[in-house]
Amino acid sequence: MTRDMRFPRHTIFILLTTLFSLFLNLSYGYRESDRRESNSSEIGIRDVDSREIGSRENYSRESEDTLTVSDAVRFLSKYVAIPSVSGQENEAAYWLALQCADKGLHIEYITNSPGSVNFTASLYPLSSQKPNIVFLNHMDVVFAGDHKLWKYPPFDGVMADERVWGRGSFDNKGLAVIQIFAVEQFVDLAAKEELPFNVTVLCVSGEETGGITGSALVTKDFIERFNPMVVIGEGGSGMEDLSFLDGAGPLFGISIAEKGCMLVKLSWTSDNAGHASIAGNYASLMMINGLHKLLNAPHPIILTREAELMFSSVGKKLGGIKGKVMSKPSSKLFMSFLKQHALKNPELNEILTNKITLSALETSKTSYNQISNVESAILDCRLLPGETPEDIINFIKNTLLDSLVQISVVEQGPVPLTTEPEYFFNLLSYAIESEFEGASVVPMLLPASTDNSYFRALGVPVYGLNPMIVSPDQLKAIHSYDEFIKFVDVDRGIDVFVSFLKSALPVFDERH
Ligand SMILES: [Zn+2]
Repeated sequence: MTRDMRFPRHTIFILLTTLFSLFLNLSYGYRESDRRESNSSEIGIRDVDSREIGSRENYSRESEDTLTVSDAVRFLSKYVAIPSVSGQENEAAYWLALQCADKGLHIEYITNSPGSVNFTASLYPLSSQKPNIVFLNHMDVVFAGDHKLWKYPPFDGVMADERVWGRGSFDNKGLAVIQIFAVEQFVDLAAKEELPFNVTVLCVSGEETGGITGSALVTKDFIERFNPMVVIGEGGSGMEDLSFLDGAGPLFGISIAEKGCMLVKLSWTSDNAGHASIAGNYASLMMINGLHKLLNAPHPIILTREAELMFSSVGKKLGGIKGKVMSKPSSKLFMSFLKQHALKNPELNEILTNKITLSALETSKTSYNQISNVESAILDCRLLPGETPEDIINFIKNTLLDSLVQISVVEQGPVPLTTEPEYFFNLLSYAIESEFEGASVVPMLLPASTDNSYFRALGVPVYGLNPMIVSPDQLKAIHSYDEFIKFVDVDRGIDVFVSFLKSALPVFDERH
């Protein structure tokens, strides 16, 4: 997989909003262009000039030293201040591993080479081979873009306005800190008593570029060292102020499945490689006509079992007539409703259809006045759970109806498997419900491909959860400018995972 094959991560988080907004026609659907046009952000300062004046002058490092924040927040600020764009994770990794060792966790490097460093921080050494609860996070971040467009510098770990700012503060360093500080609370207990489980925080490289230097490697060659019972990685989160829920409290999605991904190459060849002025039907023209047809063709709406489960769970939480309709998603009424709305809501469409995106064009080298005889297009294909590579190839063939095109699969990600929302899903749900009053939790299908899929492909149960309530402006900032996480979300997130671990460990069951 490549970076291009990755689905923009912020879309994951707006999915739930879209779902719940269906009946209200509220949509937080985010486009890159909206960012500069929108005027409604709670915290944002809208343009570069006002940012420079409004924020930088008010912010000073000295005031941060006297700030009353938790150790976890201060830790995150330092971690964000070590840049770790994909391929350059090592410095951040060594710092993080040292901090974890200081906390009394057992550190093991799974791989340790430049640009591919993966380590674990566990209650017990992995060699204990205890059944293991594995928290997964990635140390790499995407590029920060133009630093001048940030409210605060992206790699300073600025703490201001009740938030830690910077690239990775949310995705995924914030989650890593939440995981580490939660597990740390069990170090003394694990030393005193022989717990039946191990708990491991697995910190990997290269998630943002497809996981080849991280999770793909770890799952391929080292998985037997982990003995995982469950893996908990990034994924769904909570949304609140969904007005149609009538103040019923926040709604959380825990991801149980995601889309599969593959790269397909289409090639057109023509012997007609002569002078441009005499060309008839030639490769470039055939390709452009073919791609125009293919990329504009609507994909059929497919209600997967996973989407059905998600809709019906939301329906049950929603209650009333709307909830009743939604809780039987395969009914004719709801399906016609879905089809209608899927056309207007790209985020909803993502979870009901396969998707093909043009990711690159290749051409045989020619001079400008000569036409090339081979033209190729690389397509990034996203498959719903249960859809096979043959399904997508057939869709391409049936749409193009072109016997001259050559179709080949260039790369294929792991087969998307689904985790049934069972034991650990329930424990995570209880933990969320105990931390967030009135919260409801539903399983969700993530219209993306994350590292989680490598572990699911091995048959390990995997849940995706950022244990916090996210706001639309926060979603917009992921992989964009002004990424942040609120102090309070770091601290509450730790509480969620601590209460999850307590409920998983029988030693607490006996005592309470
Ligand atoms: Zn991430």
